[in-house]
Amino acid sequence: MNITHLECGLCGLRHEARRLLNLCRECGKPLLVRYDLDRAAQTLTRESLAARRADLWRYREVLPVENDENIVSLGEGWTPLLHAANLSERVGLKELYIKDESQNPTQSFKARGMAAAVSMAKELGATKLAVPSAGNAAGALAAYAARAGLECFIFMPRDTPRANVVECELTGAHVTLMDGLITDCGAEVGRRKEAEGWFDVSTLKEPYRVEGKKTLGYELAEQLNWELPDVIIYPTGGGTGLIGMWKAFDEMEQMGWIGTKRPRMVTVQAAGCAPIVRAFEQGKRFADEFPNAATTASGLRVPKAVGDFLILDALRNSGGTAIAVTDQELIDATGEIGSLEGVFCAPEGAACLPALRKLIDAGQVSTSDRVVLFNTGSGVKYMESFSSV
Ligand SMILES: *Cc1c(COP(=O)(O)O)cnc(C)c1O
Ligand SMILES: [Zn+2]
Repeated sequence: MNITHLECGLCGLRHEARRLLNLCRECGKPLLVRYDLDRAAQTLTRESLAARRADLWRYREVLPVENDENIVSLGEGWTPLLHAANLSERVGLKELYIKDESQNPTQSFKARGMAAAVSMAKELGATKLAVPSAGNAAGALAAYAARAGLECFIFMPRDTPRANVVECELTGAHVTLMDGLITDCGAEVGRRKEAEGWFDVSTLKEPYRVEGKKTLGYELAEQLNWELPDVIIYPTGGGTGLIGMWKAFDEMEQMGWIGTKRPRMVTVQAAGCAPIVRAFEQGKRFADEFPNAATTASGLRVPKAVGDFLILDALRNSGGTAIAVTDQELIDATGEIGSLEGVFCAPEGAACLPALRKLIDAGQVSTSDRVVLFNTGSGVKYMESFSSV
């Protein structure tokens, strides 16, 4: 539609758009999609949105699919931005919101990324898709692949929440459980993909999951009447949503929808797997692999992210920060958010609350700041995490 090319996020090298590509052919870093935004802005206007479909495809002109018939959709996106009045009173903030991504198909925001990635895989002729996953990415891929009539191959750690394994099997995926972490699963996909003819849809190893997830940024702006919040707290694994939102803000500015003001972007990770927090504190642009990664918040169990520098650049350029919270803190927060706001969060999403408290205590968030917490998934899939509750 309006894509001009793909561009390496690190070295800037230009790549052709209408081909199935993974990483930059020169430096091996993630590719980002670039659009003719002047052209997009001719039909995609802030005013035009009111009459559009209530899913992420409302931002059609800045999404990568060329032909509408290739869109694979289950109704993803356009989730509620809930005003959290009880919780904001409890923590002493004037304005606090929860972007509730548990209301997506397959109960997590991974649906956004996979809707875009599977649509593009279909459009560009892939027939077999493969992914390493900590759980929710697998569930989302399995669902969208089923809907598109594509075969999919999923590799997950053996201790992935049971709900994720069952949903993949019952949506027709080929599931392999492995001893080890998501990085070990990724290595297995990497070893076998060429011989098997798989297209690798790992986080940030293909350019389109970020495009689906960037709609979080468009939605936030639209739902807050084009006034971005002061602070966004985001539970970060591979960082797709954070990188995507940061990209969306730039695109919206180029289309004249918002000004130069940006929210402070805050990464939350679990203390048992906090490579981005560690790199942020050490002033590094790339994060070292986190040793012995362990947390019950499976979506945060990502010891090494290929888009680490894109996350860290966004945190620093926005004046944000990175914070770790313990598993006990994030599990306790699930009950607190649930009982105050009626939202049964995924442990990853709940981690935003103890992070917010630490920011307030440290004077990095003030009572007048407008803050958005991201509940990235549903607690329903994490029965093992709550077994001691
Ligand atoms: C995958 C996942 C995350 C991390 O998302 P990234 O965009 O990879 O950083 C957070 N929460 C949940 C519930 C997830 O499934
Ligand atoms: Zn490059």
